[in-house]
Amino acid sequence: MRCRGNRASPRMFGMPKFSFRCAKVAARTSPVPRVTSLAAAAAAVVLSLLLAACGGGAEGNGGAAGNGSDSKPVVLTTFTVLADVARNVAGDKLTVESITKAGAEIHGYEPTPGDIRKASKADLILDNGLNLEAWFGQFVEGLDVPHAVVSDGVQVMSISEDSYQGKPNPHAWMSPVNVQIYVDNMVKAFSELDPDSAGTFKANGDAYKAELQAVQDQMKSSLAAVPETQRALVTCEGAFSYLARDAGLTEVYIWAVNAEQQATPQQITRAIEYVKANKVPAVFCESTVSDAPMQQVVGATGATFGGTLYVDSLSEADGPVPTYLDLIRHDAEVITKALAGATTGAGS
Ligand SMILES: [Zn+2]
Repeated sequence: MRCRGNRASPRMFGMPKFSFRCAKVAARTSPVPRVTSLAAAAAAVVLSLLLAACGGGAEGNGGAAGNGSDSKPVVLTTFTVLADVARNVAGDKLTVESITKAGAEIHGYEPTPGDIRKASKADLILDNGLNLEAWFGQFVEGLDVPHAVVSDGVQVMSISEDSYQGKPNPHAWMSPVNVQIYVDNMVKAFSELDPDSAGTFKANGDAYKAELQAVQDQMKSSLAAVPETQRALVTCEGAFSYLARDAGLTEVYIWAVNAEQQATPQQITRAIEYVKANKVPAVFCESTVSDAPMQQVVGATGATFGGTLYVDSLSEADGPVPTYLDLIRHDAEVITKALAGATTGAGS
């Protein structure tokens, strides 16, 4: 029998060491009332899987989550953006995987029994923090796996309205400057996990931070092409606060944090009125939410739909944004073309 816990688990950033309490994980309750029955069904599956895991004997070796032949330590991240950044820091020293897949909604994700099983065998879990992963607290509660919050130390922006008012805006990675801090946190966490490779992590991190700075500079100079009168970024989700701050754009959105419910007529009307009053030439929506409400804004105003922006997930490898650096370049280009292109002809 092996229920995870033979190996030493380094403590990260003062996080308490969790013990593996199978029953506690199985009894997790969903914070989202509308899926109560689904959650109950999922919990039953989780219970049976965990019982199998706890009483089930051989569980491979080396702790490789889903990769039994690879003896490298395994790092699990909550979403694809973090996985890509982490791979740049880890190089070939660690195996990095994302819990959620490309295109997945991250805020209200419902972990599967497979996710929990995978996480129980990982050596380190990275989460964004700032309330991004609403499901994460319960997810790790019963796991004897250290985790590190990669946003620790960033200058947090608060949400200014709705029921989330005053809470931190979780989308801190939309500023490549913030992601340099994410990198520092990863270097620290990876070095505790694998001290022999600390020098490699530091060198990888420094090289990637130089790339982050270059993409930040490129984004700022690209968005500087947007004329003063058209410096408004109207999107579905209020996910661009950090990018808008960096680029000097006014951020307008339908939902403050996430499209967890139908847009209200008031939310859509507010966006329509802003677009009309400010003659905003183009509006946008994110890849992980429905653009239907924004199409209503398009229909009611003279604005065009400027394109799909990426925030909460990378695309698949053959899609438009397979890496985080691609994501920032893509969004800056789409925004600049749509807002500046119509009147100035300025490209990316
Ligand atoms: Zn989001």
